[in-house]
Amino acid sequence: SGGSKSKAKAPTYLTFDQIGGQDRAKKELIEALDFIVKRDQIEKLGIRPLKGMLLTGPPGTGKTLMAKAAAHYTNSVFLAASGSEFVEMYVGVGASRVRDLFREARQKAAKEGRDSAIIFIDEIDVIGGKRDGGQHREYDQTLNQLLTEMDGIHTSDSPRILLMAATNRKELLDSALLRPGRFDRHIEVDLPDKKGRLSILNIHAKNKPLAADVNLEQVAEQTFGFSGAHLESVLNEAAIYALRHEDEEIAQKHLSLAIDKVMMGEKTDRETNN
Ligand code: ATP
Repeated sequence: SGGSKSKAKAPTYLTFDQIGGQDRAKKELIEALDFIVKRDQIEKLGIRPLKGMLLTGPPGTGKTLMAKAAAHYTNSVFLAASGSEFVEMYVGVGASRVRDLFREARQKAAKEGRDSAIIFIDEIDVIGGKRDGGQHREYDQTLNQLLTEMDGIHTSDSPRILLMAATNRKELLDSALLRPGRFDRHIEVDLPDKKGRLSILNIHAKNKPLAADVNLEQVAEQTFGFSGAHLESVLNEAAIYALRHEDEEIAQKHLSLAIDKVMMGEKTDRETNN
């Protein structure tokens, strides 16, 4: 295909097999996404369109990766935003940003000739927190705008818009967001178990030179409680140790040092945050 042969360029899209572990979450997500793919059948049966999917779970477990893979799977354009981007001092700015985001999704899909768009909003709890009755909050307007946009999504729309939102704190969300027709599909993206950790390690070790003594199974065993993001860090830190030791390959001892380092980093983060 005429491209440079010197270096394989990383694809800009992400597929589900680049996400380690999370088998149940992936399966549930794919089942839900088939609602978008099989649009005609859904329409014929008069099934209510799937508008919002909520990904819940601790930081660094792959929620953003899931949303990106979902976009690739459904051949949708992908737009991402974070809840904190909508928090502004001036009333109405957040709401108009929500409007802009939906407009941008429609424009981008039209421009690229695609039939659907996935909008991913990380930290949805920042704008979707419980509205507390009397007390006027600036971002009530932002949340209301989001609800309005969601209510305006129809099965026959072109492009079809799907919202995916992520939060570590589902219990903080306003119930209006969770109602049928809104974020009514929830997928838990939990910390990986040992098997999941091993598959994540394998994914991130793919492009790294490993010494013969490396035992990733053992690394998976020793990293209880680590997220995917932590595991990616372990491999990266191990490579840095190898460099420092002027080794050309990552050895098991580098991995052990890296595990300690990532574990310590996590501990100091926690101590300084409180
Ligand atoms: P946050 O809530 O903090 O935004 P998140 O759940 O969205 O976290 P991601 O942004 O998807 O987490 O993951 C961060 C990085 O960690 C990824 O870019 C990837 O390198 C790695 N990672 C996390 N989970 C996995 C996984 N299941 N498989 C492979 N890599 C993962």
